[in-house]
This record gives sequence, C-alpha cells and structure tokens, in this order.
Amino acid sequence: MYGKNAWEKYSDSQLKEVESLSKEYELFITKGKTEREFVKGSIPLLKEKGFVEFKIGQKIKEGDKIYFLNKNKNIAAYIIGKKPLLEGLRILGAHIDSPRLDVKQNPLYENGGFSFLDTHYYGGIKKYQWVTIPLALYGVVIKKDGTTVDINIGDNEGDPVFGITDLLIHLSADQMAKKVAEAIPGENLDLMIGNKPLKGTEKDSVKANILKLLKEKYAIEEEDFLSAELEIVPSGEAKDFGLDRSMICGYGHDDKCCAYTSLRAVLDLKDVPEFTSCAILVDKEEVGSIGATGAQSRFFENTIASLLVASGNNDFNAIRTTLDNAFMLSSDVSAGYDPLFPSVMELKNSCFLGNGVVFNKYTGARGKSGCNDANPEYIAWLRNVMDNNSINFQTAELGKVDQGGGGTIAYILGNLNMNVIDAGIPVLNMHSPMEIISKADLFETYQAYIAFLSVKK
Ligand code: MN
Ligand code: MN
Repeated sequence: MYGKNAWEKYSDSQLKEVESLSKEYELFITKGKTEREFVKGSIPLLKEKGFVEFKIGQKIKEGDKIYFLNKNKNIAAYIIGKKPLLEGLRILGAHIDSPRLDVKQNPLYENGGFSFLDTHYYGGIKKYQWVTIPLALYGVVIKKDGTTVDINIGDNEGDPVFGITDLLIHLSADQMAKKVAEAIPGENLDLMIGNKPLKGTEKDSVKANILKLLKEKYAIEEEDFLSAELEIVPSGEAKDFGLDRSMICGYGHDDKCCAYTSLRAVLDLKDVPEFTSCAILVDKEEVGSIGATGAQSRFFENTIASLLVASGNNDFNAIRTTLDNAFMLSSDVSAGYDPLFPSVMELKNSCFLGNGVVFNKYTGARGKSGCNDANPEYIAWLRNVMDNNSINFQTAELGKVDQGGGGTIAYILGNLNMNVIDAGIPVLNMHSPMEIISKADLFETYQAYIAFLSVKK
C-alpha cells in the first residue's frame, strides 16, 4: 500500500502490537545508546532465541542460528536457510553508531575552579544542540594489564549527569551576531565534571579530586585515558511523544530504530527461511563506514566465507557467487517531512511520519554524487512484496535537489554486486539529541523486514 497513512488500517489488536513493539524499542535504546551498549543488549536477545556464536571448525545446516561478534562494536546474525548459500542471502544492514561527543585521548584538565573532559565531536552535529542539556558518559577504559573497566554514568537511578555550558543571554551580544555554525566552537564542547577541590592540594585541586574519585571507584589512573573509548550522549529515556502518544522521542533513532527492527525481524522469524537471513549491525557509519567495525570492513565477507566453509563449500569463487545473488535492504532512516521547514523538501518525493517504511532509491548530493541507485527490477520486486503483505510504504529522496544530501551504507554493499536499496524509518530532528519517529513507521518497517526475509523466491 503506497503513500497511505498506516494508522488508518490498524485493528485494536494490531494497535496493541504497535504499542508493545514501541515499548520494547524504547527500553532497548534507552540502554543501548552507543554501538558497544547496543551490541551488549543484542547478545542476550540472540541467545534467548537459540543463536550461538560461530566457532572455527563448526559445521552448519538448515535452520541453524549463528552470530559473529566483531570487537564488541559490530555484529552479524544469521539463520541458515533451506536453499544453499550460493543461491543468495537476504540481508538487513543497519548502523548502530550515532552522532555524539567522544572524549579525547588526553582529556582531563582544570580551569577556573572546574574540572573538564576535553572532547572531539563524532559525526554530523549542530553544535548548539549539545550545550545546556544533561549528558551521560559511556565506554571502556582498558588498563595496561588488559583489564576492561566499563564506564556507564548518567542514566542509572541516582547517577549524576554532566553537561556543557553556554553563555548567559545577558552577555551574548557578540555570540548572537555570529553565524549559527560558529556560535559554539567545536573546541569549546568540553564536558564539565567537577567543582570540588581536594583538601590540602595546592595546584589543580579540583582535577586532583576527580583523579582520586576515579582511582577509588574505577581503579584507573590519568594515563589510562590513553587506552579508553568514552562517548558522551544525551542522558535520559526514550519516551512516547505527543498527547496521542503516536511518536517516540529519544537519542539515536538514526539508526537504532532500523537496527532494532532489523535484529528483531531475524529474531522473530517463525519458520526457517528459504534463503539464509542476515542482520548485520555496523559501526562508524556516521564517519564514513571506514575501519574494522564499519561497513567497509572485510568482516562481513569473512562471515560469509566462514559460513560457506562450514556448509562444506570450499570453492574459492563461492563467496563471489553468494554475494552476486544477495538481496539487501540498507536499513537506514530518511529525513521525514517537517512542516516547519517546508522549503528544503519537494513534496511529491518526501516521506511523511505515519506513512510506513520509506524506500530511498538513491541518496547522495548534487548530481546524485555518491549514491547507490537501486535497480528498478529490484524495486518492482519489493513493491510486490510490500503489497502482498499489506505493508504501508512510501518513497523519498533526501530533500530538494541541490539542498544538501547524505549517504548510507547502501553503496558499500552495492559494490559487492548485490541488489541494495535504502529502506527505513522517517525521522525528524535527525542527528539532534532528541530525534522523533512514528510508532506506526516502526511497526510497518519491522513488518516490511520480516516480509523481505520470508519471501520464498
Ligand atoms: Mn543513518
Ligand atoms: Mn546519520
């Protein structure tokens, strides 16, 4: 069903399903705000449904449920289908990193009686959105002996929070005259973490007190920040949004709403699928998908090579054939139409909150630069899948021509010669600390992913 509002069609029992999926999602992303926390939350769900971590030397057969974990930030889950892998895969791929502030390697300092952590922003942010809001700190500190210290402060009952200050309006004449992009310099996004001196210390006494606390509570020294990965994200829960509770606001919908529904689609498949089904959740999309845990990593191909060998296929060309025959949905969010900012959108080719899963044939910028342009044969096949399953879907591009642009992981998997299209959820306030999605779109997208994996040919 193309271009229709999904709320219109729900029966009372379907409305209950929409609500329960939404509630489960809100709880999941409230805990899973970073790629590490999202992976940590995924593993128990996988194990509960009978997925086991792949081991070298293992043999696989139809119906087996397997996952591969990559450096605690990237995960691929598979259900082995009835057909041989060579006949292709059905892949849902989403990213689990979101724009945020990262703590620098040498971060701790004192100034004006305050202690701070110096940061470097990650991904595309509007810097002014990150000051004067409560922030939480997540990540790991790895000590020289290899011990991992988990850091998770700002979201648990009774936790303190952190934040970044902004200038009082009374003294902001100069700041207010600046361009928005320059009003908050990136180097000023430093996290305030303390104001109490350590008694009897002469120099940097507030910093000294913080170091004492870090030692007592986490057994870490200042130098241990060198081998830490600490991420600063908004504090607080994902919540129902609107008097009618039709929407969800929270941090990191891009792209955790598509990652969660992709994972759930694989977890919730009732029958063994014809084609091997995969949910691949990647890191580093917001900075170009590079590195070991990003979509460009060989990790994904390595998992398929491992599965081919485990199914008894040692033909060196088998992985190429398997990828040639694969179909993929690049599960990523799209820019929902915001009536307060109509000038950047072209209405016929915009997506609307409530109208279901959105397919972006292409993204890119200017003359479609950098886009994966999905094949019309594939889109026709998908239209048929959507209509056969009564799923509300829409199509869009990312704003008006020459207004800006963006990208996803679609082209990276497209480079492996599979059929790929972007398919996900419309978002408002994308990349802000409080993004908004529709519950109906979450549900339709989840149904669309299940339908995609369940197709018999
Ligand atoms: Mn995204
Ligand atoms: Mn993004």
